[in-house]
Amino acid sequence: MSEAAKLAEYREYKVIDPATGKEIASYPLMDAGQVDEKVASARKAFPSWSQTSFKERSKIMLEASSYLAENAGRYADDIAAENGKTRFDALLADVYATADLMKYVAKNAEKFLRPVRVSAGLALPFRKAYFRYEPKGVIGIISPWNYPFNLSAGPAVQAIMAGNSVVLKPSSQTTRSGIITKEILGRAGLPEGVIEVVTGSGSVSGQALIEHDDLDMLYFTGSTQVGREIYIKAAERIIPAVMELGGNDVAIVTKNADLERAANCLAWSSFTNCGQTCISTELILVQREVYDKFVEKYTQVVSAINLGKEAGEIGAMTMSSQLKIVEDQLEDARQKGARILTGGKKPEGPGLFYPPTVIVDAKPDMKLMKEETFGPLKPIVAFDNIDEAIEMANDSEYGLSGSVFTKDLEEGRKIAYRIKTGSVNINDSMMTPAIPALPFGGVKKSGIGRNHGRQGMRNFSDIKSVTEYSGGVKRELFWYPIPPGADKLIEKVLVILYSNKISAKVSAALSSIGLAGKLYRKM
Ligand code: NAD
Repeated sequence: MSEAAKLAEYREYKVIDPATGKEIASYPLMDAGQVDEKVASARKAFPSWSQTSFKERSKIMLEASSYLAENAGRYADDIAAENGKTRFDALLADVYATADLMKYVAKNAEKFLRPVRVSAGLALPFRKAYFRYEPKGVIGIISPWNYPFNLSAGPAVQAIMAGNSVVLKPSSQTTRSGIITKEILGRAGLPEGVIEVVTGSGSVSGQALIEHDDLDMLYFTGSTQVGREIYIKAAERIIPAVMELGGNDVAIVTKNADLERAANCLAWSSFTNCGQTCISTELILVQREVYDKFVEKYTQVVSAINLGKEAGEIGAMTMSSQLKIVEDQLEDARQKGARILTGGKKPEGPGLFYPPTVIVDAKPDMKLMKEETFGPLKPIVAFDNIDEAIEMANDSEYGLSGSVFTKDLEEGRKIAYRIKTGSVNINDSMMTPAIPALPFGGVKKSGIGRNHGRQGMRNFSDIKSVTEYSGGVKRELFWYPIPPGADKLIEKVLVILYSNKISAKVSAALSSIGLAGKLYRKM
């Protein structure tokens, strides 16, 4: 191969359909220079975009979500082709969830980001005090391949509604999903440059983005390992970074649970998207009294799930590297004595398919019990009492989400509040990110900061505190020259306002007649 041909090859990368093994697209592998162009374009677009009204931004967002809804099938096909998931999964968790979020941010951004008036306090009269949420500037967003459209478009639309411009780097495997985000917003009238997409790998293009010195914030969704590197880069430049990282979620099924609902729900939360969900149920803990019954029901539901991209309910895994982790963890578990009740063997034929696999007799030293699997392996373990279950659930470096199954809601809440996670579902699983008003994110090594809801939008804003004085006083008590006896006056004010010896009633009465105003007039 000639040098020129080698260079051309290096500058492009190919995307393989995980379900067929066939090449479906190729994109430029952007280097630091090209990343710089994208950041510069977003920076150029920022001043005028940040001055637009919420009404203008909402109009664009609603137009984009409407167009997305009308073209849902076409976009779901694109997403499914590069991710390997089924069309149904792409429609539900990527397209539907994003259209819903776009409408939510369009309707709520103004309310969440309006200035907040506060009291200036008795001692500082004639002042208005408030704080404003102001756009930060240019936000670098890096997204993973598992919900490639929702996790690219989701943070981007929140940042854009808050008045920022965005440089988005989707996972190289799911580049098209990032491009769709720009495509639908651009078509709806978003000005040029407000969103730019960097295509390429994490190690080249992603690295160039996180090292760029003209970003005002980083927003990362992906593994804890890469998140750590990105957080360090943000710290070096003292810019904020939101981290949405890995998980190892546990479901607790007590003896009071509706076992049928628990089995059906957990079969879905274990295996949808082939188990490649940050909040997939990774471990099921079942109270010993109902363990056998639950295992039987769960295995029955799981073994009936159809594997297959077109006619099936579960598509292919996305990355061959992820499939290797699954096979390695299962082999480790097998060697350490685990029993496999269903699944456990990759079917013949092309594509990264792997069947839903149920495992019992799992032990704490098995890799799948300690590490995030991010694939279709689900161990079920018995417990004797609730304290033991909670201890097992919390024995993890992660703290993303979890679930509890019991018909006794009081018991459910007690357990739910003791699990150390960013979210939890009672008699449900994986529901919190489906409700855009609920903040979503992790504790421990699962992340820092929140996506969605009021907090999600405020991530992308700087807070500016403002005071406005409109009285006629020419000189404040504490300005120069300080009047003789001012210290005595302050001592008296302190006692009147804060001493427990002055009854609450007197203090309230003094406040109502405007003590501070009187003190000022004395000067
Ligand atoms: P990953 O960390 O390998 O990659 C995520 C993104 O980072 C990709 O775009 C990748 O190209 C980029 N990247 C990789 N190295 C980089 C570097 N050195 N500099 C800059 N960018 C770099 O994660 P993944 O395999 O795409 O996704 C799976 C992981 O994401 C799982 O651990 C899962 O739990 C987690 N996840 C978390 C959430 C959440 O909301 N908490 C959601 C989805 C996925």
